[in-house]
Amino acid sequence: MNWISNYVRPKINSLFSRREVPENLWTKCDECGTMLFHRELSDNLNVCTTCDHHMPITPRERFDALFDGGIFTEIEVPKPIADPLHFRDQKKYPDRMKAAQKKTGEPEAMLVAEGEMGGTPIVAAGQDFSFMGGSMGMYVGNAIIAAAERAVELGRPLILFSAAGGARMQEGILSLMQMPRTTVAVEMLKEAGLPYIVVLTNPTSGGVTASYAMLGDVHIAEPNALICFAGPRVIEQTIREKLPEGFQRSEYLLDHGMLDRVTMRTEMRDELITIVRMLMNLTPAVRGNLPAPEPEAEEAEAAPAETGEADAPKA
Ligand SMILES: [Zn+2]
Repeated sequence: MNWISNYVRPKINSLFSRREVPENLWTKCDECGTMLFHRELSDNLNVCTTCDHHMPITPRERFDALFDGGIFTEIEVPKPIADPLHFRDQKKYPDRMKAAQKKTGEPEAMLVAEGEMGGTPIVAAGQDFSFMGGSMGMYVGNAIIAAAERAVELGRPLILFSAAGGARMQEGILSLMQMPRTTVAVEMLKEAGLPYIVVLTNPTSGGVTASYAMLGDVHIAEPNALICFAGPRVIEQTIREKLPEGFQRSEYLLDHGMLDRVTMRTEMRDELITIVRMLMNLTPAVRGNLPAPEPEAEEAEAAPAETGEADAPKA
């Protein structure tokens, strides 16, 4: 024991550990470069408070903000066969799955839940881009079917938040099979006369855009989200032409009639409540409660009643 181990080493350690802290607590906006404090950012649903850039958000974080009081019940999704093709690229498919599960803490790329949003009962499904690019495999297919079946059973609308790079190549043709399967699930909702609303988030592409993400009754997108089948780079290489500014982004697609709305994530909940209540023929949403009567007002009300009683014998 000497002054090096007792004094200098702890001092050096504290210097290094202190340097790690800001990295965890602060996030830099990719768009404008502002450093955002983690609490401020999560309170604003991962939308930059300076430039309104929409950063990725997990379905669980989204549902916490979407459902009243952050309360929702997860709907169980039947588990498909794991690794049916024994697929292997640089890594085995089961190893990739394990890594994604460890990274996200979720079993797969879609979260399905039921609950109330502004007192409006709904079923919601959210795709997780951080889980293997939100790719649509058999589990995602099962999740959408489970969500649609539950919505029909309860007579509730289904709201789906899409985010995907497309089909899951590790499941080959079985992944592509989810396009007709999910189309049938959406058809079930239509037959039951229930609204199906799609919220397209950055990015929604490939087989997901070509199936359930484009079959909604209402299509809302978050600002500047890339929504496409083939990406702009592939198109540019194929047609050998420069693509226009903002091509395949939400605002461009809204102008060209592919979307109904472009809505900020922070305003999405109110907008969804309004739309769902309209489509379900419910009374308009209550935006807030009336203030409680002030004590003075009660006394003032009580006073005329007394005089009323006093007046009564005269009449
Ligand atoms: Zn920003």
